[in-house]
Amino acid sequence: MECVFCKIARGEIPAHKVYEDEEFVAFRDINPQAPTHILIIPGKHIESLSSVAEEDRELLGKLLWVAKRVADELNLKKGYRLVINTGPDGGQEVLHLHVHLLGGRALAWPPG
Ligand code: AMP
Ligand code: ZN
Repeated sequence: MECVFCKIARGEIPAHKVYEDEEFVAFRDINPQAPTHILIIPGKHIESLSSVAEEDRELLGKLLWVAKRVADELNLKKGYRLVINTGPDGGQEVLHLHVHLLGGRALAWPPG
């Protein structure tokens, strides 16, 4: 399997993990766009938000919960942003569902 995030979830390539449980992993983005830039992924390979099936509705809820818990643990008191890039127009490059957690500076809006 070639998916880089599956390999990170299985521990086959190194990543700076900040959270891990039976279903999810959170690790530092290799090319951070903010002082805090974490990716939260399910261990299960799902290509993108648009390909999530109804049977994985619960997984989506837990994914957001893990993102919130990681944000709490990193003490992002002034706030943060969660982003799920989806498909080519969404700027998705890695085809394994992931949530970006960005914080540590004021983020511009709207995005480009
Ligand atoms: P996206 O454009 O939403 O698909 O974001 C993919 C993100 O994964 C980018 O921010 C990359 O910097 C990040 N990324 C790619 N490979 C790795 C890796 N091996 N470890 C950590 N982050 C990575
Ligand atoms: Zn994968």
